[in-house]
Amino acid sequence: MKVTDHIKKAKGNTLFSFEIIPPKKGKNIQELYNNIDPLMEFNPPFIDVTTSREEFVYIEKEGLFDRKITRMRPGTLGICAAIKHKYNVDTVPHVLCGGFTKEETEYLLVDCHYLGIDNVMALRGDAMKGEQYFKATKGGHSYATQLVDQIQNLNSGKYLHGTLDVDDKADFCIGVAGYPEKHLESPSMQSDLKRLKEKVDAGADYVVTQMFFDNKKYFEFVDAAKKEGINVPIIPGIKPIAVKRHLQLLPQVFKIDLPETLISEVEKCSDNKQVRQVGVEWCIQQSKELLDAGVPVLHYYSMGKSDNIKSIASQLF
Ligand SMILES: Cc1cc2nc3c(=O)[nH]c(=O)nc-3n(C[C@H](O)[C@H](O)[C@H](O)COP(=O)(O)OP(=O)(O)OC[C@H]3O[C@@H](n4cnc5c(N)ncnc54)[C@H](O)[C@@H]3O)c2cc1C
Repeated sequence: MKVTDHIKKAKGNTLFSFEIIPPKKGKNIQELYNNIDPLMEFNPPFIDVTTSREEFVYIEKEGLFDRKITRMRPGTLGICAAIKHKYNVDTVPHVLCGGFTKEETEYLLVDCHYLGIDNVMALRGDAMKGEQYFKATKGGHSYATQLVDQIQNLNSGKYLHGTLDVDDKADFCIGVAGYPEKHLESPSMQSDLKRLKEKVDAGADYVVTQMFFDNKKYFEFVDAAKKEGINVPIIPGIKPIAVKRHLQLLPQVFKIDLPETLISEVEKCSDNKQVRQVGVEWCIQQSKELLDAGVPVLHYYSMGKSDNIKSIASQLF
């Protein structure tokens, strides 16, 4: 079922959902299940599975280093299929421009359709690790809007190389990313909103936001998006702070601000166990306010660990 249909079916009640990351190559899927199991009591109608793009690895060979490109966390689609089958829940694979040709994307979408996956998140992806700027993959897309176009084309039976004799059209519901504190490369908030509107005009059905720690940022973003003519659901994506290092890491990676009160509460902690508790409490307060505001879904970035998400969800759902 489509994410937008789950939202309609909920008739104004806020849904619970979360995002997971595929394990590193060679790791057992059981650990993922161990982290999903405790969250299933909150009835997530859908679970997102991220896609990690390829990266460089250096292999020593006779004193020299050979540079190879590899994907350390493959398996997004396999995990989506496994979870859908095991828990009877909708799964949302993240589909990236970076690292994939248009053909590879088409094959992935065909597989999704065969597997009964009704939703995909269309994303550009970041620059490769160690590179400063995003570079489009040869034969791939440069922006998420183009990916949305490709998915919409497929929805209308248009494949890359000519219209085929199609009697079983895909009908993907498409999610895209939105940034309450603007995307890090965007020259201004207004410009970023215009880009978001382009994604929605191309056929995106809903937006999931980048994490934020101050709800005001989300509420202002939703208002500004509405003024821009964006009328699809905007799902808040939130994450509990879990380690002290997040104080530097999150602003550095995502170019987001952390509220002063949260910073000082985390700084007072003597270990990461305390930080995790502060993160949970902050996230509960954030979630309660968002819930009162009637957001369609509370979507949590679990980063593969569920104990803190469970503590939060058990106070709300
Ligand atoms: C909910 C969510 C889930 C995510 N999941 C993943 C994941 O699974 N894997 C992963 O690698 N990353 C993921 N990301 C990160 C995401 O890939 C990065 O933030 C990436 O840098 C931008 O992706 P996007 O889809 O927003 O790009 P786009 O919408 O393409 O925007 C990228 C930048 O280009 C600008 N722009 C857009 N169109 C144009 C244009 N035509 N001309 C000029 N500028 C333009 C935008 O303003 C923005 O600054 C996720 C992010 C979010 C919020």
